[in-house]
Amino acid sequence: MSKNVIDTPLGDGGKLRLAIQKSGRLSEDSLKLLKDCGIDLRNVKDRLKTEADNFPLEIFFLRDDDIPEYVNDGVADIGIVGENVLYEKNKPVDIVEKLGFGKCRLSVAIKRSEEYSKEMLQGKRIATSYPVLVKKFLDENNIKADIHEISGSVEIAPGIGLADAVCDLVSSGSTLFMNGLKEAETILKSEAVLIQNKKLSEEKLNILNKLLFRIQSVKKAKNNKYILLNAPNDKLQEIIALLPGMKSPTVLPLATEGWSSVHSVLNENDFWDIIEQLKAHGAQGILVVPIEKMII
Ligand code: ATP
Ligand code: MG
Repeated sequence: MSKNVIDTPLGDGGKLRLAIQKSGRLSEDSLKLLKDCGIDLRNVKDRLKTEADNFPLEIFFLRDDDIPEYVNDGVADIGIVGENVLYEKNKPVDIVEKLGFGKCRLSVAIKRSEEYSKEMLQGKRIATSYPVLVKKFLDENNIKADIHEISGSVEIAPGIGLADAVCDLVSSGSTLFMNGLKEAETILKSEAVLIQNKKLSEEKLNILNKLLFRIQSVKKAKNNKYILLNAPNDKLQEIIALLPGMKSPTVLPLATEGWSSVHSVLNENDFWDIIEQLKAHGAQGILVVPIEKMII
């Protein structure tokens, strides 16, 4: 084999290797994101790894706890993992993009009958799967407490006398409630993020940039809606002022004299507010449709 072949940065076939959670709360959304990016995967079920048919990407299916380390070691080039796991594992990888799913909080919870103050945690036993993050929180607040690391079902610890409080992931709070606990203080807000190894070759960075461009287009599309409405011509200026669109709205005459059809793009956050105002200005037949991709 010539030296050239051994040294090539594309020695692994030149594909970018992405680690995602094998099965759990991030798996479905991670696969959906790839699908929305137009990436077709071969045979996803019960596999350790697979490849994309139409994009230079290889996917490894792993436990989420292992993803930061695999990306740092270079076994995978990039990964999708919750910020909670990333900060707990504390590996020197870079965050490329927040992905907007897997949202949750890491919170201290206490028995429902108790009053919360930070000081009440002094000298207490706190059960958690996140000892590093809990220690950081305690140190920052000058609290001395015992951290009991347990790997699952943390919420039952106070009930069986193993701990006085817990620090665990919460989304709705119903698991805490069912165990007689209440959320007292959030120590970290988390969502899924795309992470990358710090030393990617230029070829791999090129592929990553292509993937990132698609991810950002999908995210923008999710946050925006396409809106079509009929407007009386004498109110057109006011209605157009409410709808900036990507450049400016499209205005087409209707067959009915004195009316126009207005098309534009609306951000989800302002959505209901603007719809109210459009109606107040005489807009009719308002249609709102999802956008699949948005390239700006
Ligand atoms: P694995 O077998 O891969 O280690 P796990 O049991 O550790 O899986 P999951 O419960 O599937 O992990 O959660 C994966 C991630 O999903 C969490 O680390 C967190 O980032 C996110 N998440 C979102 N909402 C919640 C929630 N309500 N509870 C727990 N995790 C959540
Ligand atoms: Mg895990």
